[in-house]
Amino acid sequence: FFPGIKELPPDPLFGLKARYTADSRADKVDLGIGAYRDENGKPWILPAVRQAEAKLVASPDYNHEYLSIGGYEPFVKEAAKIILGEDSLAIKEGRIVSQQSLSGTGALHLTGLFLKTFYSGEHTIYLSKPTWANHNQIFTSVGFKVESYPYWNNETKSLDLDGFLNAIRSAPKKSVFLLHACAHNPTGLDPTQSQWTTILKELDNNNHLVLFDSAYQGFASGNLEKDGFAIRHAINDKLINSPIIICQSFAKNCGMYGERVGAVHVITPPGATGEAVAPVLRAIKSQLNKIIRSELSNPPAYGAKIVAAILSDKDLKKQWQDDLTTMSSRIIKMRHSLRDLLTNELKTPGNWDHIVNQTGMFSFTGLTPEMVARLEEKHGVYLVSSGRASVAGLNEGNINKVAQAIDEVVRS
Ligand code: PMP
Repeated sequence: FFPGIKELPPDPLFGLKARYTADSRADKVDLGIGAYRDENGKPWILPAVRQAEAKLVASPDYNHEYLSIGGYEPFVKEAAKIILGEDSLAIKEGRIVSQQSLSGTGALHLTGLFLKTFYSGEHTIYLSKPTWANHNQIFTSVGFKVESYPYWNNETKSLDLDGFLNAIRSAPKKSVFLLHACAHNPTGLDPTQSQWTTILKELDNNNHLVLFDSAYQGFASGNLEKDGFAIRHAINDKLINSPIIICQSFAKNCGMYGERVGAVHVITPPGATGEAVAPVLRAIKSQLNKIIRSELSNPPAYGAKIVAAILSDKDLKKQWQDDLTTMSSRIIKMRHSLRDLLTNELKTPGNWDHIVNQTGMFSFTGLTPEMVARLEEKHGVYLVSSGRASVAGLNEGNINKVAQAIDEVVRS
């Protein structure tokens, strides 16, 4: 009854996790999945989240009723302010529709379906090479043609800006370009602020639709404004004259991975504001609602209420910013320790400065698939075959072992 159905190989990341779990070595190290770990290698519930949970549960209004189709209104409003900034031009001019989504993945999927139906431009999406593996699947599954733009120059371990700009110029006009707002996954390499200006202007010259994937705001640098730079620059400096879509996740920056808290923000181009654009915004909202209704009826409430509680309370928000600093600074410290161990102590062949120059959860180590396989087999150190390591998995207790293991596989 299901002719031709074949079993697929496990998802590379979740397959890695399964091998890690099955490994009985006591000193195994998981540098695979992109989830924050504390200095003891354990998942961390942010103090801001704990406090917001306590407050939420104690409230007389606490219940498990359905949300509306578009989500928890206080959450989507605050989420827009966090990503765009309180004084955002798009908010002031009333050019934004915000809807809740099933975290970042759901936001991307919803965007894909929406664009496939309503976008008058090309149904081809350009993804950075490399990118988060799920991007390809998400957009293919909704019928988009997927292409890539050069991003990572493996020789120089830096941005291939010329290649990127050439791809923008040679893509059919009005294509869709997906940009990682910060903490690029998997390379940890972000454009500089002046490179962002160049990239955004070139995208605008070619009338492409810009889709920002913002999965790590505040997690990369600890600073929400800095990590939101590209998005705010594009909007507040009116660099882009086509719609902009933002897919926002609170999985990493609130440590709410399993609660699926996210949002989609559709921003209409500069020009028409207020009442002039209101009917279009209402139409966009109603069509997004139609998709959401058919797919999940209404989004999950618990995580959205917690994030809303954090974002709308001065003290909780301050606590959250401290938590962001705790996470980002521990990761930055681990980057420095690893680079120093490899370069100064072990004198491992090669240059390891890219580990400290990269940002966010990941380091694109430059280790080959063979080296990665040997790390796993011989040393019980697990990372994806591309050489991407989740720096959050490092701590004082395992970093010496990991450095020695890397040294061994590089030399062998
Ligand atoms: N985009 C990127 C670049 C990511 O790395 C991730 C998470 N790994 C996501 C989106 C979506 O994550 P989630 O669905 O958990 O919010």
